[in-house]
Amino acid sequence: MITLDEARAHVLTRVAPAPPVAVPVGEAAGLVLASDVTSTETVPPFANTAMDGFAVIASDTTDAPVTLDVVGTVAAGAAADRPLAAGQAMRIMTGAPMPPGADAVVMVERTRHDEATATVEIEIAVPAGNHVRGAGEDVMPGDLLFPAGTVLGAGHLGVLASVGIGTVSVIPRPVVGVVSTGDELVDDGSPLRPGQIRDSNRLTLLTLLEESGFDAVDLGLVRDDESEIERVFRRGAEQCDAVLSSGGVSMGAFDYVKVVLDRIGDMRWMQIAIKPAKPFAFGLVGATPVFGLPGNPVSSMVSYELFARPALRRMAGHTILSRPTRSAVSHDPLGRHDDGKTHFLRVVGGPDETGRWQIRKLGGQGSHQLTDMAGATALAVVPDGVEVRAGDEVEIIPLGTLGP
Ligand code: AMP
Ligand code: MG
Repeated sequence: MITLDEARAHVLTRVAPAPPVAVPVGEAAGLVLASDVTSTETVPPFANTAMDGFAVIASDTTDAPVTLDVVGTVAAGAAADRPLAAGQAMRIMTGAPMPPGADAVVMVERTRHDEATATVEIEIAVPAGNHVRGAGEDVMPGDLLFPAGTVLGAGHLGVLASVGIGTVSVIPRPVVGVVSTGDELVDDGSPLRPGQIRDSNRLTLLTLLEESGFDAVDLGLVRDDESEIERVFRRGAEQCDAVLSSGGVSMGAFDYVKVVLDRIGDMRWMQIAIKPAKPFAFGLVGATPVFGLPGNPVSSMVSYELFARPALRRMAGHTILSRPTRSAVSHDPLGRHDDGKTHFLRVVGGPDETGRWQIRKLGGQGSHQLTDMAGATALAVVPDGVEVRAGDEVEIIPLGTLGP
C-alpha cells in the first residue's frame, strides 16, 4: 500500500492546466483567468451624481438656507445643455453627469422646489464634492483589474462588462468522460435478473463532475469484454480531456479494464492506505489522463473527491485543488481497528451558532452503502492508531457543491 499523499502527488504531477482559450465573458463564469486583465477604460467614465437632487456650486450654499434659480434638468443618460453660473442650480437624477461648473449635489430631501418661479430653496450648506462620484473612482485606464489565476465570479464578470471587455483568455473547463464497467450492471430500468445490479456510479460521477464545474460526457456502460472496453477507452481518450471509469480496478478475474489499459495506456495500479477506495488506477491513454476508480459506489465517490477532483481542478487552472479540511466535535465515538489505513467516515452535521462544526457518525459505513454517503455532509478523517471518543475533535472534509 502507498500513502494517500504519495498517490495524490503521483496524479497531480502528471496533469497540467489546459492551454488558454478566448471565451465571451458571458460564458466565463467559474473559469480561471489565463492572463492578467487590464482596463483601457475609465469607470465611472464621467463625474456624476450619487443622489437625486440639485446640482449646485458649493460656495453658493454657504449661507443656507438660500434660494437658487433652476435653469434645467439632467436625467441619467443625458447631458446638461449649459454650464451652471453663480446663483443657479439644476435638477439632476442619480447617475446623470454633473453639469459643467457645478461641484456639489444637494439631495432632493433637503430642497424645496418651486416650479412656478423656477427656483429652489437649498436648506443646507454642502461642501464641494458632496454626493459627486468622480470619474475613474472605480477604474482608471491601465489599472490591473484581475491577475491571471483569478476564478471568475459574478462580480468579476460585472467589472469586465463595466470596462467593455467582451472576451477573456481563460483555462477551459475539462471535458470528462464517464464509463461504467461490469457484466452485472443494468442501466435500462429492466427487472433485475439473478446477479444483476443497477448502475449507479455513472450518474453519481456525471453529477459530481457537473457540481465541480467540469463538462461531463456519458460514455455509457461496457461489459467485461476486452474489445468493448478498448473501444470505449480509445473513444473517450480521443473525445475528452480526461476519462473516469468505475469498476474493474481491483483483483477480480474479469477485471479486463486492467488488461486493456495496460495495453493501450501507461498506467499505475495503486493500493492506497485508505478506507474506502483502496484500489485506484491512474495513467495516460495517449495524452489523456484516465482515472480508474473503484466500483463500489461509496469508494468511487471518495476516490473522485481525493484524486480525480483535485487533478481535474489543476487541469482547469485552479491553484486551490483539494477541499479545505476543518476541525469538528464528534458526538459519537469514531472507533476503528488498526489496519494501516486512514479511514474516511461518513458523518452528518454542520456548524453550530458559534461556527464550530458538530458531527454524528452515520450508520451505513460499508463501501456499498451509498445512502449514507448521499446523506453525509462531511467525511471524518481518522488515521490509523487514532481513536476518536465522543466529544473529541476530529478533522473533517466538508462535502457539497460550494467552495473549492
Ligand atoms: P469491481 O471494482 O468491478 O470489482 O466492483 C466492485 C463492486 O462495485 C462490485 O460489487 C460491483 O458490482 C460494484 N459496482 C461496480 N460498478 C458499479 C456501478 N457502476 N454501479 C454500482 N455498483 C457498481
Ligand atoms: Mg467489475
